[in-house]
Amino acid sequence: MLLRNNRFWDWILICSISLTILGCNLLIAETAPASLRAGAATSNITPWLGVSINGGMRDRTASHIHDELHARCLALDDGKTRFAIVACDSCVIHRDIFDAAKKIVKDKINLPTANMLMCATHSHSAPTACGIFQSDPDPQYQKYLSRKIADAVIRAFNNITPARIGWGVGKLPQHVFNRRWKMKPGTIPPNPFGEKNDQARMNPPVGSKDLIEPIGPTDPEVLVLSVQHADGRPLALVSNYALHYVGGTGAGHISADYFGMFADLIQQRLGADRQDPPFVAMLTNGCSGDINNINFRVRSKSRPPYEQMRRVATDLADEVFRVCQSLQYKDRAKLNVAQKTLQLALRLPSPQDVEKAQKILAQVKGPILKTLPEIYARETVLLAEYKPEVEIIVQALQIGDLAIVATPCENFVEIGLEIKSKSPFHPTFIFELANGYNGYMPTVAQHKLGGYETWRARSSCLEVNAAPKVVDSILDLLRQNKEKSSPVAQSSSH
Ligand SMILES: [Zn+2]
Repeated sequence: MLLRNNRFWDWILICSISLTILGCNLLIAETAPASLRAGAATSNITPWLGVSINGGMRDRTASHIHDELHARCLALDDGKTRFAIVACDSCVIHRDIFDAAKKIVKDKINLPTANMLMCATHSHSAPTACGIFQSDPDPQYQKYLSRKIADAVIRAFNNITPARIGWGVGKLPQHVFNRRWKMKPGTIPPNPFGEKNDQARMNPPVGSKDLIEPIGPTDPEVLVLSVQHADGRPLALVSNYALHYVGGTGAGHISADYFGMFADLIQQRLGADRQDPPFVAMLTNGCSGDINNINFRVRSKSRPPYEQMRRVATDLADEVFRVCQSLQYKDRAKLNVAQKTLQLALRLPSPQDVEKAQKILAQVKGPILKTLPEIYARETVLLAEYKPEVEIIVQALQIGDLAIVATPCENFVEIGLEIKSKSPFHPTFIFELANGYNGYMPTVAQHKLGGYETWRARSSCLEVNAAPKVVDSILDLLRQNKEKSSPVAQSSSH
């Protein structure tokens, strides 16, 4: 009708509507990320027998491999940005090892080093990759580890293929306990430096009549990021839970702890066994510096090796599988990376502290230090050689509405809860022990209460104010990613 009455103006109208639609389509095509691609791979990082095992105040030597250790990698690419996430079955990994791995990857496939997040799971039955207490690393294993972590990333990108992702959050409160306790007055022993001002006791005796209450919360959340092939077959799964580790291995055993068991169980639950290329699952550690798997109120019966870690891994796999049943998958997700380095001061010993420590060490007979004052005296002497400041890496990755942030510390759980509550991304995964190792990071308030995690050692030497500085930096990085992905920022960047 319109055409017949006023043909010229009708054509103009139709053309302008068409151009507007075309223009909108072009804008959408430019701002929306391309279809997501993902690849995953594992790289075996099992050591040889005879290496030092990390995780205790005394060294242990590997006499058996119970289960293989892996670096597990997920690589993502949205057409503009690509990055890799790697979780390694290790207690802690020194920054030099991760930096060497990142350099190999950068040289081979030109992936910027800031686009790699590499973390340790915190298995306490893995080879020493960083000197802690009386465990010293084998330099051969350190070199091997760098190469094999790099292989995991390169192999994951070799497997890259069209993919879709979904994410969700579950809960598993029954396996997380705050391990720092308020005790009846006068029942906390002096610290290793002979001072009697600790108001918190780490790992108190189970069932003790002197227990009052835990002095911190727990974080029961189980975060799940599921990746599928475009046809719906499972490709990879990343989970995150704030639990130090479980333990209970055989003596001298190398094991990936419940992190490895979980990866195996969830693969089975998802029906993803024996795929080509193989499905990859990883469990990363949340903020669990003060969280463990011991119910201090109730004395439990002793269990055979591996039984307790299998219970925890099974419950976690059940919960993650439940979450997976209701996920909605998308084949597009905006990827962003933000990273920065921070200079933090160290709590170093005074000349008087060093003199006192040397006197203690002069009395020691034999090569093994047995008492806490002896062990911390050695730490004092070693720390005296440290520079007064250290540079640490903090990182924030964005995958659509989800964020993953990383710190190189064993963060107290309150730090994780704070970041999660203030993050502009939901959910926000927090990976600890990532891109290096800088020991415990208590909150400022927890620092004042003393206790094991605050005793000055190579495993606890960051300045008291480290936590607020790190939290502020991470929130800043998250906001940067949010701004980069806002519609205004995207259209103005063209
Ligand atoms: Zn630890």
